Amino acid sequence: MTEHTNLIIVGGGISGASLLYTVAKFTDVDDVTLIEKEREAAAINSHRTNNSQTLHFGDIETNYTLEKAEEVKEGAELLAGYLEGTDTDREMHSKRSKMVLGVGDEEVAKLEQRYREEGFGDLFPKLREIGREEIAALEPKVVEGRDPDTELKALQTPDGYVVDYGAVAKSFVADAREEEGVSVHFGTAVTNVEETRDGFAVETDDGDFAADAVVVAAGSHSLQFAKQMGYGEDMSLLPVAGSFFLATTC
Ligand SMILES: Cc1cc2nc3c(=O)[nH]c(=O)nc-3n(C[C@H](O)[C@H](O)[C@H](O)COP(=O)(O)OP(=O)(O)OC[C@H]3O[C@@H](n4cnc5c(N)ncnc54)[C@H](O)[C@@H]3O)c2cc1C
Repeated sequence: MTEHTNLIIVGGGISGASLLYTVAKFTDVDDVTLIEKEREAAAINSHRTNNSQTLHFGDIETNYTLEKAEEVKEGAELLAGYLEGTDTDREMHSKRSKMVLGVGDEEVAKLEQRYREEGFGDLFPKLREIGREEIAALEPKVVEGRDPDTELKALQTPDGYVVDYGAVAKSFVADAREEEGVSVHFGTAVTNVEETRDGFAVETDDGDFAADAVVVAAGSHSLQFAKQMGYGEDMSLLPVAGSFFLATTC
């Protein structure tokens, strides 16, 4: 028999798990189902051994525009709030000093412009400009052996969050499961998603599901599902240094 639900989320990495948590806790959606092909949440990219565990706020990411930093900061603060509230023993996260370093006149001028003129100093009140002495006090190895005539400057903040996204994903799933109408299927691979007259039919290797809406949060497999469904057949995703570009395939 086909199981019907309001929303199906395909993929239990940090994206799917955080969506499950948000929908279960903060919306009036009655039923939500998570389907994950592995036997546990976050076994792939979100696993702690498979990424650098940085929570990006946009403060020290010099490849971000101010607009992107504003957007990223909002999401990062929500996660930081969740961690501060639930992970008081610091099992899923830790906090460290972090900085972006400018070496030489050109890089230092760019950092100063970013901080003083482009609005990053205002957006991130805890971000400070620090010079050689303070850098050396925080990170001696960064300064040791450098030519004392080379200009050095850093933008530094104490709010560097190191996050075990795998543990957070598991925590989100566990919290969501406390709510009614939440169903989680591990070890179940989605093989096909098809639009029907009243929603979507979702086929898996362990039975069929139907839903009013489907979110595919299956990492790089998401594009495959999109293409199977006729979306973006001529598009590719190009990840470059933390940014993602949509490219037309030839
Ligand atoms: C080297 C490296 C370093 C990184 N460092 C950072 C960092 O410091 N900070 C940061 O924020 N990000 C970092 N990232 C990126 C980050 O790891 C990913 O953006 C994030 O983990 C993606 O989460 P996700 O839930 O979208 O995908 P995933 O974690 O990949 O989850 C997708 C899930 O979908 C499931 N799935 C796939 N196909 C199916 C199917 N057919 N049926 C059912 N389930 C399916 C998979 O099993 C998987 O569990 C890094 C990435 C890499 C590679």
